[in-house]
Amino acid sequence: MTDNADLAALIRTIPDYPKPGILFRDVSTLLLDGPGFRATIDRMAAMVAPDTTLIAGIEARGFVVAAGLSYALGLGKLMLRKPGKLPGEKIGTDYALEYGTDRIEMHVGHVRDGQKVLLVDDLIATGGTALAGVDLITRGGGIVEQALFIVDLPDLGGAAKLRAKGIKVDCLID
Ligand code: IMP
Repeated sequence: MTDNADLAALIRTIPDYPKPGILFRDVSTLLLDGPGFRATIDRMAAMVAPDTTLIAGIEARGFVVAAGLSYALGLGKLMLRKPGKLPGEKIGTDYALEYGTDRIEMHVGHVRDGQKVLLVDDLIATGGTALAGVDLITRGGGIVEQALFIVDLPDLGGAAKLRAKGIKVDCLID
């Protein structure tokens, strides 16, 4: 990973959000910058394994990244959604947050058996969200060999958890 300092400079840090003591890395300021967003997608697209055939984005900021990559690479996009949003038959995975639980869902039949699926989100922290995504895609028949993020917060250990499952984790900024 190069340091991508030009992109890091476009991400603002908001202290005490969503609760006291947390430094929130706000990528909305990076998305606001046209050349910065284009460079983000171009540099991420260059990191995508060539045998990838589907890009899975996690709602909501992961959708922005996944849509850009899908367009850049001409690949389909799979939406991993918050509960209650998908109209068709679906499967879901619950995962723990620091306080409480959350859930993401995926349409049944939208991943082919053995399909190589890239998992994408804006940021990985503890890895709970990404691991739930891996669980869903795997249950759907897909294979996640790579996960890609704009930002990794390595001190929170999420990337290490994915790597322990044999998944290659790449990011632009940590
Ligand atoms: P994790 O499940 O702890 O890895 O948290 C990652 C998920 O929460 C991703 O979907 C992120 O969008 C979101 N998230 C957690 N912390 C931050 C942050 O500092 N900035 C932006 N998103 C965050």
